[in-house]
Amino acid sequence: MKFQYLGTAAAEGFPATFCNCESCRAARKNLAVEWRTRSQAIIDDILLIDFPCESSVHMMRFGVDLSAVQNLLVTHSHGDHFYAQEFVNRGYKFASGIVSDRLEIYADSEVLEVFREDTRREMRDSVREKIGLHEVEPFQRFSAGGYEIFSIPATHMQTEKALLYGIRKDKTVLYLNDTGLLREECYRYLAEQGVCADFVSLDCTFADTEGPHSARHMGFAENCTVREKLVAYGIVKADTKYCVTHFSHNSLPFRDRIENKAKEYGFLSAHDGLVLEI
Ligand SMILES: [Zn+2]
Ligand SMILES: [Zn+2]
Ligand SMILES: [Zn+2]
Repeated sequence: MKFQYLGTAAAEGFPATFCNCESCRAARKNLAVEWRTRSQAIIDDILLIDFPCESSVHMMRFGVDLSAVQNLLVTHSHGDHFYAQEFVNRGYKFASGIVSDRLEIYADSEVLEVFREDTRREMRDSVREKIGLHEVEPFQRFSAGGYEIFSIPATHMQTEKALLYGIRKDKTVLYLNDTGLLREECYRYLAEQGVCADFVSLDCTFADTEGPHSARHMGFAENCTVREKLVAYGIVKADTKYCVTHFSHNSLPFRDRIENKAKEYGFLSAHDGLVLEI
């Protein structure tokens, strides 16, 4: 299984759009290394996770053919994870030679509502009819394009269910952002379903900054707690790899610094474009 990180920043991006803090100013001077776009990942070049405003940047920067994507899993409706307006351009005069005739979107009800709202004015019927909307509930098991998907609820927001995903084909991935510490029932569900992850991607918004942190995201300390829980519930193996992502500009997410810190904790760290063979 090929897993690629396309974007690895938290909501504001790094450097952040309107920010002139010391970190963002330094990052702007070294974009080739430090640039982190809003979070997105792709599996085997056809299964996409989240759709931030920079999806088109990812298409250009990493040569991703977004028209080949058959299935899109969306975690939640926050703007850094779902920019629905772009789908208006998936057909009509705006796109030809689309590789996958249809795109199926799997998400909670709020995300699907955002899709309807944001595409209501401009989306042609001919474009709309090629996009399937599938509402996903927490603790749901379903299949999408030959992948088995397990949804669990994130600890992230009051106004929406917000989902995290287990994705299984030949290998198994757990994609855990955006979220704070997971509820006990999440571990229990994954264990009951026989999920055993080869790779775990962890929300590390706060990295090594001083706590107490908000319960909506994690840093290295919380990532360690999640790893302990996954081990305790038998959801991972001895050689499972863990990778941290989704960094805030407030966490000084310079690539070298984060990589070294992550290593101390036994984690890999993501950067935009990173490809992992799982
Ligand atoms: Zn986010
Ligand atoms: Zn900044
Ligand atoms: Zn969020």
